[in-house]
Amino acid sequence: VVSMQAVNKWFGKHHVLRDVSLGLAAGERIVLCGPSGSGKSTLIRCINGLEGFQEGTLTVCGATLDGTQERLAEVRSHTGMVFQNFNLFPHLSVMDNLTLGAIYARGEPEDAATERAKGLLERVQLTSQTWKYPGQLSGGQRQRVAIARALMLEPEVMLFDEPTSALDPEMVHEVLGVMEELAQSGQSMIVVTHEMGFARRVSDLVVFMDQGEIVEAAPPETFFSAPATDRARGFLGQIS
Ligand code: ATP
Ligand code: MG
Repeated sequence: VVSMQAVNKWFGKHHVLRDVSLGLAAGERIVLCGPSGSGKSTLIRCINGLEGFQEGTLTVCGATLDGTQERLAEVRSHTGMVFQNFNLFPHLSVMDNLTLGAIYARGEPEDAATERAKGLLERVQLTSQTWKYPGQLSGGQRQRVAIARALMLEPEVMLFDEPTSALDPEMVHEVLGVMEELAQSGQSMIVVTHEMGFARRVSDLVVFMDQGEIVEAAPPETFFSAPATDRARGFLGQIS
């Protein structure tokens, strides 16, 4: 569902993605890790068209970015993104945060959107918070709302950029639990995280980046027990 071929990106003179090639199959789960500044966020933002790139090709669900708004819109329609800092609309209730995009961007009737939103809020165990505002929720609850909101648009691929790193430790597991359930349901996803327990339990492939390059890509059993490079060994030594 995602195919990235030899993507190169520069911010000015700074080469931030170097010949990055990555494929995600339907139902596959990739965990992306690496030191700060290695290009993880940039890579994931390229996949949903939030960032452009100068060289290489990117195809998401058959749509290849070609500089046109049409393809960009198509790529975006296939991806759902969850950020570190939730990015909810503070002046809208949880329900309206979920339904707004479906009603205005997709033209879905309000009742239908509301019904689907109820289902998703049940799935992330937030039915009791339906009419609250983001400011009245805990960080873990807000992040579960953000996940439910992304799922409202029924994305083929879910992209997560450090979804638990702004949370207090006691809230991390409730968010990882929702993500794990989503993975079990067959959702294709790419997750930037330093939660290596999650990576071991859930991922099919761990991709390790350093200085804009993919240095290693291996199943978690291999990556954690026998990293192939000094750079990955050094990284694992620092975070564990
Ligand atoms: P972190 O773990 O800290 O989130 P990261 O792996 O996500 O790091 P990126 O945010 O992708 O790294 O950044 C990769 C490089 O690109 C960094 O050197 C960063 O300073 C640079 N960079 C990111 N965004 C921009 C921007 N908008 N303009 C210029 N440089 C940028
Ligand atoms: Mg980042």
